[in-house]
Amino acid sequence: MAAAPPAGLFIRDSFDAARAGAEMYALVRALYPICRSITGAGLRDTLAFIGREIPVDVHEIPSGTTVFDWTIPDEWNIREAWIKNPRGETIVDFRRSNLHVVNYSEPIRARMDLAALKPHLHSLPDRPAWIPYRTSYYRKQWGFCLPHAQLQSLPDGEYEVCIASTLAPGHLSYGELCLPGASADEVLVSCHVCHPSLCNDNLSGLAVCVRLAQELSRRRHALTYRFLFIPGTIGSIAWLALNEAKTANVRHGLVVAGVGDAGAPTYKQSRRGDAAIDQAMAHVLRHAQPPGRIRPFVPYGYDERQYCSPGFDLPMGLLMRTPFGEYPEYHTSADNLDFVKPSSLAETLELVLAACEVLEGDGKYVNLLPKGEPQLGRRGLYGATGGRNEQAVDQLALLWVLNQSDGTRSLLDIAERAGMPFAEIRRAADLLRQQRLLDG
Ligand code: ZN
Repeated sequence: MAAAPPAGLFIRDSFDAARAGAEMYALVRALYPICRSITGAGLRDTLAFIGREIPVDVHEIPSGTTVFDWTIPDEWNIREAWIKNPRGETIVDFRRSNLHVVNYSEPIRARMDLAALKPHLHSLPDRPAWIPYRTSYYRKQWGFCLPHAQLQSLPDGEYEVCIASTLAPGHLSYGELCLPGASADEVLVSCHVCHPSLCNDNLSGLAVCVRLAQELSRRRHALTYRFLFIPGTIGSIAWLALNEAKTANVRHGLVVAGVGDAGAPTYKQSRRGDAAIDQAMAHVLRHAQPPGRIRPFVPYGYDERQYCSPGFDLPMGLLMRTPFGEYPEYHTSADNLDFVKPSSLAETLELVLAACEVLEGDGKYVNLLPKGEPQLGRRGLYGATGGRNEQAVDQLALLWVLNQSDGTRSLLDIAERAGMPFAEIRRAADLLRQQRLLDG
């Protein structure tokens, strides 16, 4: 029977949501201008920035390293990129938006007419003012992204294009931070950090994970928490390939991505569908305001695809707000600083902390006086004014815990049955244990 220490359990007790939201948003704003990719200087700069917030270890995997069925690619770096029109005017400039260049473009310096250039230009006809985000990691090509309205206005004539990039053997970088708890059982928290100037997709998850690590390091926790800041897909595959032994300790896990928009929170279940993290997230989303949504597992999405591949089948879900691909700003220049809200970041973090409370504090107990109700008033557990006692524990929560604690039902089961937040039930259990009415 789990006997989780009451101290440190209520990790949200000293949580200042407004301040956390503002600070996470400041992190997003600071990292927004950097041109990140799955390798290269922008990724390294981002990890260095994270390293000033939390003591993350940066690992470098050489290009050419085999990781399961994949190979670490050459490192991509870029200095400048532009298109000049027939009059010699710069009409597209990487310095104005790093989304203008197809991420991982090979270098090019050439003159060509509009017909030859057009196959290399990408736009969004249905969103003519936005710049799309495009990548070509594993197929060598070059290209530019621009607003559709601008593309349509290009006159015929000879254009000059320049992409001053390098694709050369180097490294894939990622960050890892382990916060040891009393138990070797681990919670794996993962976010991708490989997108350039996109706020919700990558920076929101990054900011919440950084702040979560900070919040947890200030509090006692029984579980060990491991954070990964990795480039999408290749990063999680590489980590799994090179750290396979560590996965044996993973009891719970969460991929955090797209958590800064104004939409309601959405949790995508692990491949298992009934893991403790699935139950914990379902519980906290049910009690969120507005309530969150639960989606079943699908083998598409972010890095949970790799963590939940059948050879690992880790109990890891994905926490988002509006699901990726279901908002028009997704993978466009409109996923900007206006699209991400400090309040959404703060609410997401609070939900994750609430889920951590469940993972940390769930357990099964036994009512030591199960014949009739114990006399609560004699023990100071019965509120004189009705409803609440001085410890602010709901009377009904005490009765639920006493009634259901026969050693077979966990506190989360009881919270679900009572329709009450886990924290209320956990507080009631702690009080009953103090009064020696509950064993476990
Ligand atoms: Zn993305």
